[in-house]
Amino acid sequence: MIQAVFFDMDDTLYDTSGFASIARRAAVKSMVHNGLQCSEEEGYEHLMEIVREKGSNYSKHFNILTNDINGSEDPLIIVNGIITYHNTKFAMLKLQPDSFAILLYLKSKGYKVGLITNGKEFKQWEKLIRLGLYPFFDEIVTSESVGVEKPDAKIYQIAMDRLNVTKGTSIMVGNNFDVDIMGAYNAGMQSMIINSKLTDEQNKKLEQLNYQVRQLDTLTDIMKIL
Ligand SMILES: [Mg+2]
Repeated sequence: MIQAVFFDMDDTLYDTSGFASIARRAAVKSMVHNGLQCSEEEGYEHLMEIVREKGSNYSKHFNILTNDINGSEDPLIIVNGIITYHNTKFAMLKLQPDSFAILLYLKSKGYKVGLITNGKEFKQWEKLIRLGLYPFFDEIVTSESVGVEKPDAKIYQIAMDRLNVTKGTSIMVGNNFDVDIMGAYNAGMQSMIINSKLTDEQNKKLEQLNYQVRQLDTLTDIMKIL
């Protein structure tokens, strides 16, 4: 019998990629209006190349963008980008109703609820607090705080130990096959995938491993199972 449900955060409970994309587009628009010498589309495409190259936790994406396009780091342009990005992001940091509904449901049914997220401690906590998510969780484990990340079984074991549950009574819900689902498999727990369709290759892998994964259309589908 399942006693604990572990969630991934980004693109599982919160549409992180969707909102980041909207915030980045708004930032580039503001930078172009303030003197960045390119079209909004060119600026956005170039920004995304920089994000891919430097990673999303790098702090000077807008400096590089401005320098690459205008040949110098104009603070008026860069700061307009930063402020627009943050204002847009904060305005949109609202939890989808489904996420609230499922967390409330699980708590009301007496399940223990944990979060296992790869990312920087403070950046992940900022989202948890701004979204009003953190009070729902019995335990929150960020990869930075424990020094291992999904799909390493160790991070799952740490989360289970903290909730005093075992792999046989735990289930993981996440959007990323290689990270969340393979991590749950490595840790020996069941899992459910959301916001992502399994590819033929992934299905073949699951067959080889003799591991079954439930595919969810919405988070509230969990209510039919638990
Ligand atoms: Mg995710």
